[in-house]
Amino acid sequence: MYALNHSIGRKKVINENAISLGMDKRIVLLGPPGSGKGTQAERMESELGYKRISTGDLLREAVRKQTSLGKKAKEYMDAGELVPNQLVVDLIKEKVEELDGGYILDGFPRTLKQAEVLEGITDIDIAINLDVDEEELVDRLTKRRTCKECNAVYHLMFNPPKAEGKCDKCGGELYQRSDDTEAVVRERLRVYKDNTLPLVEFYSGKGKLVNIPGTGSIDEIFEAIKTQL
Ligand code: AMP
Repeated sequence: MYALNHSIGRKKVINENAISLGMDKRIVLLGPPGSGKGTQAERMESELGYKRISTGDLLREAVRKQTSLGKKAKEYMDAGELVPNQLVVDLIKEKVEELDGGYILDGFPRTLKQAEVLEGITDIDIAINLDVDEEELVDRLTKRRTCKECNAVYHLMFNPPKAEGKCDKCGGELYQRSDDTEAVVRERLRVYKDNTLPLVEFYSGKGKLVNIPGTGSIDEIFEAIKTQL
């Protein structure tokens, strides 16, 4: 559904489906790790035509390919810490600047500094915050499995794959992310509270925040998000 348009000698990705549906908002998805940002962003991409940019996925790809960025990012990611701002900002800047139409930022910004940098790159229309209780997050993350090929996510109890260890969508192998073990999950939640939670206030102060309870079925949450778009 994505068409390419050559403008001033540069490739611009025009998301025609999104624009024709009026789905052309620039969205920041906020919420703690495990709140369902990735799952909802995937639905918004496949069903509504939004382009999804996930810094976590981009970083994991860099780690897998052992690029210089990947080599620098790996130790932070394995420990559940944030990758230094500059590395992530460079990564996202290029992506955002080549997009027209609606898109979702999943996992960016994660600090006030990143949010300020983003203000200088683009105008965000809405920040959707998925709200979930901490103990539920630990359960969700430690039972999460991710597809090595397409990054689709599953939960061993609530959203299991049809065949054990295999992705329903592409048949890829499912694995447990190295940062989804309990000790690292607790550290990621601490990092979230210290660094990312203040963004809820930041976007609220700009009149752009929408809070959505992140508990309930994936469909219910998706419907609640759709009413805000
Ligand atoms: P995620 O897949 O969004 O949970 O991200 C996984 C890991 O990637 C995080 O725990 C961080 O180490 C790193 N990461 C992703 N996005 C960012 C960001 N915006 N700033 C810093 N580190 C990030």
